[in-house]
Amino acid sequence: MTLLSGIFGYPIRHSISPAMHNAAFASLDIDAVYSAWETTPDDLAAGVASLRSEDYLGANVTVPHKQAVMVHLDEIDDLATRIGAVNTIVNRDGRLMGSNTDALGFINSLRSEAGVTVAGLEVVLIGAGGAARAAAYALAEGRASALAIANRTVERAESLASELAETGILANAFGLHDPDFLSACERADLIVNSTSVGMLHGPAEGDSPVPAEVISPGCVVYDMVYNPPKTPFLLDAERAGAQVIGGLPMLVYQGAAAWSRWTGREAPVDVMFEAAKEALGL
Ligand code: NAP
Repeated sequence: MTLLSGIFGYPIRHSISPAMHNAAFASLDIDAVYSAWETTPDDLAAGVASLRSEDYLGANVTVPHKQAVMVHLDEIDDLATRIGAVNTIVNRDGRLMGSNTDALGFINSLRSEAGVTVAGLEVVLIGAGGAARAAAYALAEGRASALAIANRTVERAESLASELAETGILANAFGLHDPDFLSACERADLIVNSTSVGMLHGPAEGDSPVPAEVISPGCVVYDMVYNPPKTPFLLDAERAGAQVIGGLPMLVYQGAAAWSRWTGREAPVDVMFEAAKEALGL
C-alpha cells in the first residue's frame, strides 16, 4: 500500500513541500507520496476527515488553515495549543494528533546555520502572526533573556507579550516606528523578521521591516521569508556586518520534524535541503 501525505493550503500550487518530502521518501525507499492539496475553507473539514483512513500518514497545514484546523483534530499537544496553530497532523490509528513544528524548525535552523542557542539572548521579534507566535514560544522555552515584539498592528504584539508572561520571559510590545523599538534593535543579539515584508510577490516586496541604521555588526539577523533567499532586510544586515540566516533552513527543519513524526525515522535533512533548493531554482 502506498502511504499518503500532503499539505492543506490555499493557494498551495507553488509549495516546495512536495519536492522536499517526496525526495526524503525516495531516498529511504519508503513507499509514500506527498501532495499539495488546494483546499478552500469550506473543504477543510472533509479533507481533514479523510486523513483517518489507514493509508494516510498525516498532513501539513498552512495558510489560511493553521488555526481553523484545530477543531477537527482529536488531540493537540501543549506547544501547539499555546501557539494557537497546528502545522502538522499525524494519523495514529484513525486518531488525528496536531502539533506545531515551526518552533522546532526555528530553533534547529538557528543552531545548525549559525551555531546560535537562544539562552540569555536579547531578541527582537518583528510580527505577531502564526510564525511569530511559534518563534516567541520557542524563544521563551529556550530561555532568551528579553523579547521585544513589534508589529504593524500593535495590539496583536501586546496580546502576544501578555500571553508570554506565564513563561517567565521579559516581553514588551511596540509599534514598528516606536523609538524604543528601534533602540531595542540596536542593542539586540538577534533580530527575527516573522512578517511577510520582503516576500516575493507579497504586498511589501522590496521593503525591509526595519531601517538599515538600527542593525549592529555583532547581531544575528534572521528572516523567515525564504523567497527571495536574500531579502532587502538580509542585504541591509550583510552590509551592516551582521550574520544572516534566511527562511529556507526553517522551512526544511520544520518539514524534517513533521516527516519524522509521520515515519518514525530520522529525516534525511541534507536530501530535503537539496530538493527544496532545486524546487526554488537555487
Ligand atoms: P500571518 O499569521 O498572516 O502574519 C503576518 C504578519 O506579517 C503579521 O504580523 C502582519 O502584521 C505582518 N505584515 C503583513 N504585511 C505587512 C506589511 N505590509 N507591513 C508590516 N507588517 C506586515 O502569517 P505567518 O504565517 O505568521 O507568516 C509570516 C511570514 O513568515 C510569511 O512570509 C511566511 O512565508 C513566513 N513563514 C516562514 C516559515 C519558514 O519555515 N521559513 C514558516 C512560517 C511562516 P499585522 O498583524 O499588522 O497584520
